[in-house]
Amino acid sequence: MTCEKCGASTVAVTAEEKTADVCPSCDIPDRMCTWCQLAMIKKLVGNGRYIHYICPKCVFQHTSKYPPVSAPNTS
Ligand SMILES: [Zn+2]
Ligand SMILES: [Zn+2]
Repeated sequence: MTCEKCGASTVAVTAEEKTADVCPSCDIPDRMCTWCQLAMIKKLVGNGRYIHYICPKCVFQHTSKYPPVSAPNTS
């Protein structure tokens, strides 16, 4: 599949027996490199369960879960 917004190829992510096409560029939140303050390269790994961020400059890597676990509602 191709993203309607940016034209990049999407990644099929299966979660809870449903498959969704996710565009890494549009659908993954941006993350800045802690050291360089540059936008990190985003990739979906582990069958779409994890987001792998890599800094294009210092190659610092960060992995987080996808979709991001929403903060508990404390209100
Ligand atoms: Zn896109
Ligand atoms: Zn960096």
